[in-house]
Amino acid sequence: MSTTTTVVSETRAKHSSETRAKHDAARVELLLGELRLPGVKLIWAKLAEQSDKEGWPAARFLAALAEHEMADRGRRRMERHLTEARLPAGKTLATFDFDSVPMVSKAQVMALASGDAWLGKGANILLFGPPGGGKSHLAAALGLALIENGWRVMFARTTDLVQRLQVARRELALESAIAKLDRYDLLILDDIAYVTKDQAETSVLFELIAARYERRSMLITANQPFGEWGKIFPDQAMTLASIDRLVHHATILEMNVESYRRREALDRKRGRGRPATHATIKKTEKSED
Ligand code: ADP
Ligand code: MG
Repeated sequence: MSTTTTVVSETRAKHSSETRAKHDAARVELLLGELRLPGVKLIWAKLAEQSDKEGWPAARFLAALAEHEMADRGRRRMERHLTEARLPAGKTLATFDFDSVPMVSKAQVMALASGDAWLGKGANILLFGPPGGGKSHLAAALGLALIENGWRVMFARTTDLVQRLQVARRELALESAIAKLDRYDLLILDDIAYVTKDQAETSVLFELIAARYERRSMLITANQPFGEWGKIFPDQAMTLASIDRLVHHATILEMNVESYRRREALDRKRGRGRPATHATIKKTEKSED
């Protein structure tokens, strides 16, 4: 064979292997799209190049791709869970000042944030305290931490959720509306005591509590103690039955502190940087009397 012929056939072979590689790449892209593997689709070409260059065994390449897809799915799932949770923005456990709520143990809250001991068996958390004491903040922050730990959560103002369930009831779809909420390991009902009189005339809230009892958890915040819950439900029997179910397996946290906002405002007026604890404020107020 002459030198010219060899060069020509080598060029041809190179050309055909490049065409082949391009063809394969196009096929891979198409198939990954069909298989709905967007994460793999994004990364495979880069990984394949590295794998070819470093001579990885095929199993190593495949494992790297699969790991990438797993991580990507996990990220996307968490994003979905965060969106569906409708948590108020910016309320985290890291920004919650536990010093200002001395009756709430940080260690206990941190343990609750893992979810394991209580969400699996449908236990509840009840947060009581006057307005401004940090109930909504703590509830939302716990919700966020639980989502980060893989649980599904939904946060709602109780009156909004009751309104939605009332609409469902009118459309004879209350049962399925409540069943749909089963997908959430935790339902956060903020400000249960704000349920209005006309809303209380229907029993949707009772139906919800009864349906979730011992199966799916609820975290309820209230600025009124149980004694005042009579106006949340249609009659006394339902009020008692609801309270009974809620407290049966519940952690009750009482946040009897003065409004955080008010204390912060006071602190600013007095030129202090950091909000003081309740106890400190009391002392200060007394000494200023
Ligand atoms: P509640 O729901 O009990 O009425 P919020 O949770 O809405 O009170 O608290 C009122 C405001 O004060 C919010 O902006 C919240 O983030 C803030 N806040 C309350 N308690 C704390 C706390 N312990 N640490 C940090 N911020 C707090
Ligand atoms: Mg609140």
